[in-house]
Amino acid sequence: MASTNIKKLKKVKRSGWIGSVIAFFVFTILFAIGLVLGALALGTYVLESKISTEYEAIEYMAGIYEKGLKSGDDRVFDFLDEEGRAYIIRDKDGNVIHQNGENTCSFEGEKVKMSRYKYKIMVYRDSEKDYIYPENGELNLDFGEIYDGINEENYAAADDEADEDIDDEDFFNIEEKDVKMLGMPLWISLDINNSQQEFIAKADYRLNIHDLYLILGIVIAFLVVVAVIFIMMFVKIIRGIIRQKRIMDLFYTDDVTQGNNWMYFIIKGEQQLKKRRNKDVGFAIVNLSFVNYRNYCVCHSVKRGEEMLRRVYDTISSKLDKNEICSHVTVEEFALLLRYEDEESLRVRLHGIVNGLENIDMNHKFGFHVGVELIDKSVDEKGLVVKRKDIDIEKEYNYACAACVSIGETDESEVVFFDDKLVEEQRWIDKVQERQSQALANEEFLVYYQPKYDPKTNELRGAEALIRWNSPEFGLVSPGRFIPIFEKNGFITEIDHYMIQHVAHDQKQWLDKGIKCVPISVNVSRAHFIESDLAEQIRDMVDAEGTPHELVEIELTESAFFDDKNAMIKTIDKLKGYGFAVSMDDFGSGYSSLNSLKDMPLDVLKLDADFFRGDAKDGRGEIVVSEAIKLAKHLNMRTVAEGVEIRKQVDFLASQGCDMIQGFYFAKPMPRDEFEKKYEAGKAEIDDVNVDSEKQ
Ligand code: C2E
Ligand code: MG
Ligand code: MG
Repeated sequence: MASTNIKKLKKVKRSGWIGSVIAFFVFTILFAIGLVLGALALGTYVLESKISTEYEAIEYMAGIYEKGLKSGDDRVFDFLDEEGRAYIIRDKDGNVIHQNGENTCSFEGEKVKMSRYKYKIMVYRDSEKDYIYPENGELNLDFGEIYDGINEENYAAADDEADEDIDDEDFFNIEEKDVKMLGMPLWISLDINNSQQEFIAKADYRLNIHDLYLILGIVIAFLVVVAVIFIMMFVKIIRGIIRQKRIMDLFYTDDVTQGNNWMYFIIKGEQQLKKRRNKDVGFAIVNLSFVNYRNYCVCHSVKRGEEMLRRVYDTISSKLDKNEICSHVTVEEFALLLRYEDEESLRVRLHGIVNGLENIDMNHKFGFHVGVELIDKSVDEKGLVVKRKDIDIEKEYNYACAACVSIGETDESEVVFFDDKLVEEQRWIDKVQERQSQALANEEFLVYYQPKYDPKTNELRGAEALIRWNSPEFGLVSPGRFIPIFEKNGFITEIDHYMIQHVAHDQKQWLDKGIKCVPISVNVSRAHFIESDLAEQIRDMVDAEGTPHELVEIELTESAFFDDKNAMIKTIDKLKGYGFAVSMDDFGSGYSSLNSLKDMPLDVLKLDADFFRGDAKDGRGEIVVSEAIKLAKHLNMRTVAEGVEIRKQVDFLASQGCDMIQGFYFAKPMPRDEFEKKYEAGKAEIDDVNVDSEKQ
């Protein structure tokens, strides 16, 4: 999911301003090339058109001269002189045959190729003016560069001349009518008379103000067009950047808190993780869950709940340093990326954050569960930071979530670090879930029985059916390792059915064998007790085996009494109506259930093993037990003491009138066949049991 979004993000980035910037640069380069080529083409065109006009006039004169030469008519010189152009006719040895006007030709130059002629034209420079000058001849600028490159000397000479004859104002004010134009004398040479002679004439090459205006106009128009395109592109780029920023903001912003969201966390967080530089500072990925959020919404509306989420987000964010991240990722969960130096200081810091959050609302105390995954501060042999390019922040966050989930259902705030034990636990849960159905079908679950004896007479008064999993893969597994998993995933209802059926079946068999049967209790999970037809289900299962109802007792744990009380009373009433006894298991194990005793018509009170663990000071434990027994008696309930391991406890309980004892002192839970022997014996054979060896 995340990786698809990242791909989409990259696409947005590519299609955004980057494309426009590339286009902008390409355009700029093309424009520069175009400008240079255009200027060259324009310049060449203007120059060539000027020179060619002169060239054609000189070619015409040369033609006339050739005609005159053929006809031997000397008047041809008069005719040519009338043209008013300085010219020279030389023979191939350089001797001047005829000359008109002042001969300032340097006879130095080169052949110039012009695009409009196929051949090259021989051009000589003027010996006096090898530079551009205004028509009135008062300013000289180097023009040699057009064909020869810059001529420093001429430039200097031109400058001197300019200083003498024209002031700057005149030069720059070239629109004034009297300064007609810039020009440069060239001498164009034509081979005539079968290359026996050379006709050289002065080509007064000049640019007038209109030509300059034209060039300037075209350049300005070109620049304006380009400037407009530039501005348009620039605006497009800026708009692209703004648009992209808005898209990125949307992409990274959480709707509820208006802060960072999950995408921000995985993209920016992963970047942070990959560029770790300081070997003493590591990163911690944190999953912070607002425990009571749903309840708060139920009581105060979702709107107020979201307000609270915003406050949680702001409070956390205010406690983060630069380069640390807080993101709101799901309804009640936040993901954090924190920097830490050592585990202990991180733990202290997290507790500090949680303490601050617990009291964000004066009228409530909230709980927060925090799962932490530390990214190892890897360094190489030289002590340098090992950069982890392969790091996957989603995977690391998942570990933090697993740590958080391991806290369980408590409303109290807690901080748990992910470790190998958690991985093991997670793997175990996975294996159990994978195999549970198959195990049930293969009858891998065994029913163990733990007898309940009368402490005064040592007679068997009852038993409790306790499940064991005899797994071919894991061996004999005690219920503490799989019952909580089944309670969470709902498989417990099938287990409860299985146990009731087996107990009913075994009881019927023992009855048929002529054994004096006593009630055997079966644990029914609180998850199961919510079912409205539970009493009917139990009745039908027991009836299916033909077992009398009074031989099956139903045990409910104390915590179950906090669920729907009315539904529970109804089920208990029904069960009792069908003749089943109902007992409260684990009385006194944590929740105060005195109130439940008032409302529920129960038959048996099972005192939790906790009463008999450790030495309570000043005999206080004994006082509590004795009062609990008295209370049960007043309510017409029988009492069973669980977890009794030593003789002293048995004697005390007997003296207080406790009806039954279920504990290792008498017997530990045992397989069916072993129990059958105890059943037949009907009385306990006492051997103090080594308690430690019983713990599985
Ligand atoms: P529970 O129903 O309170 O069962 C009593 C537990 O206390 C049993 O543990 C039993 O072996 C243990 N116990 C009894 N006497 C002593 C003693 O003297 N010393 C010590 N240390 N322990 C003693 P077990 O069999 O491991 O069962 C644990 C819990 O698992 C049960 O507590 C019950 O809540 C649950 N459970 C067991 N079987 C089933 C079942 O078939 N269905 C359901 N829903 N839960 C079951
Ligand atoms: Mg029990
Ligand atoms: Mg119990």
